[in-house]
Amino acid sequence: CGIVGAIRSHHNVVDFLTDGLKRLEYRGYDSSGIAVQTETGIRRVRRVGRVALMEEAAKNKEIYGLTGIGHTRWATHGGVTEPNAHPHISAGLISVVHNGIIENFEAEKARLEALGYEFESQTDTEVIAHSVHYEYTHNGGDLYRAVQTACSRFQGAYAIAVIANDKPNQMVVARMGCPLLIAFGEDEVFIASDVSAVIAFTRRVTYLEDGDIALLHADGIQKLLDKDGNDANRSIRTSELSL
Ligand code: GLU
Repeated sequence: CGIVGAIRSHHNVVDFLTDGLKRLEYRGYDSSGIAVQTETGIRRVRRVGRVALMEEAAKNKEIYGLTGIGHTRWATHGGVTEPNAHPHISAGLISVVHNGIIENFEAEKARLEALGYEFESQTDTEVIAHSVHYEYTHNGGDLYRAVQTACSRFQGAYAIAVIANDKPNQMVVARMGCPLLIAFGEDEVFIASDVSAVIAFTRRVTYLEDGDIALLHADGIQKLLDKDGNDANRSIRTSELSL
């Protein structure tokens, strides 16, 4: 339903993630969660129900990190449970949030199970995490290419954000049929499915188009290819939406 993410240089990403998710609440959701890169590895908090419950749990755990992703879920595949809430994590290494539906997830799931992956949820989304993990660990650790290859297998609609534990301060995002934007702050970059999640932090935004895949660092877009694999130049606009 809703996606947020950020790579920051000076401030705890948890503050942005929880603020952004609250600003997406009006769209409706049944559960929420965040995953954050910390000095001691990836930390995840998920809760069924209000974002405030998840926020409180994150505060109690004193999670601090500069890079993270967050999600409000509107369940399409799998019940409304904490294990089905996003982010989904593969082998403690790859974390994913996803809006939309992977139509061919059953075939993908069978393929990944045959490769040895064990599924922890009933969602269609979990195939994204394992598929990226497989590619990433078989291509020498190129996160961008792993997402690109994984996405080439998916049918359906998605906006996704992916981070890897061993790639601090990097994120890969991809869009096909679901909205996704990148927003630029001072030494920090944000992503969201809806501009209302970011405008308290910056109004400079770029909207991705279907088939776009981007590699992000704190200083902005490192690489952005379109659906044909060509360099894409997407204009930066100033959002005038009121807070
Ligand atoms: N299909 C995914 C799920 O059921 C994502 C739903 C959404 O867009 O929130 O978990």
